Amino acid sequence: MTDRITIVTGGSRGIGAATCRRLAAAGHHLVLGYLSDRAAAETVAEEARAAGTRCVTVRADTSVEEDVARLFDTARRELGPVTGLVNNAGVTGPLGPLAGARTEDLRRVLDVNLLGVLLSCRQAARELGAGGAVVNISSAAATLGSPGDYVHYAATKAAVDALTVGLSKELGPAGIRVNAVAPGIIDTEMHAAMGAPDRAARAAPGIPLRRAGEADEVAAAVAWLLSPDASYTTGTVLRVAGGR
Ligand code: NAP
Repeated sequence: MTDRITIVTGGSRGIGAATCRRLAAAGHHLVLGYLSDRAAAETVAEEARAAGTRCVTVRADTSVEEDVARLFDTARRELGPVTGLVNNAGVTGPLGPLAGARTEDLRRVLDVNLLGVLLSCRQAARELGAGGAVVNISSAAATLGSPGDYVHYAATKAAVDALTVGLSKELGPAGIRVNAVAPGIIDTEMHAAMGAPDRAARAAPGIPLRRAGEADEVAAAVAWLLSPDASYTTGTVLRVAGGR
């Protein structure tokens, strides 16, 4: 089998870090992108190397075209032709109804969650060959709408779902698969960043499985979609949300 060389954006923490660990265990060589937490990125990279794979870290803001180019350039130069991409980096901004949201927060969420995914997908469309695969991290919010919390974030994730379906049809004839994973509430630092550190625990009673998810439960779905076991699966949004 040819080397699997996979870029994971936002691989330093949460779902991205769990995905890097899973993919390393499955033998992928990794380019781990991060925004600011270099120490966290290096810790995950060390774990991946300890699992026997090659892993390089790259500071890259996915909403910046030059940074996305650097992610792919580094992968090509240090590891070889890219075969996989996980668009995981994402932000929500503060919780609250749309009426109170600041324009700069709306713009940042659009820039990272939508433009950033588009920029990375565009580069993947230019570079990946037959057998390549992209997994976009969406959210259950895309269909729930998240009223009172972050309808702008939900809107960007619905756009990611549409992008996933459309791009899968564009790239299918070239043998490249494009899928998404839509997590429900997952216990990561994202909730603290939006001002509600106990949000995952508080949500449990409203989730059919009566608990928040773990990052590794999302990573398992990502790893499956990137694997040969998913060779006939493209254009799908796989919900990993405990029944929500
Ligand atoms: P997290 O714990 O807050 O981690 C976010 C990761 O993204 C970090 O590695 C961070 O890098 C990176 N990042 C943030 N902005 C970036 C940017 N502009 N460019 C590059 N990297 C950036 O988040 P998470 O909970 O794991 O969420 C990961 C993905 O899952 C997101 O797309 C999110 O929308 C989605 N999701 C999460 C949940 C949930 O409940 N947690 C539910 C549904 C969907 P640094 O470490 O350098 O800051």
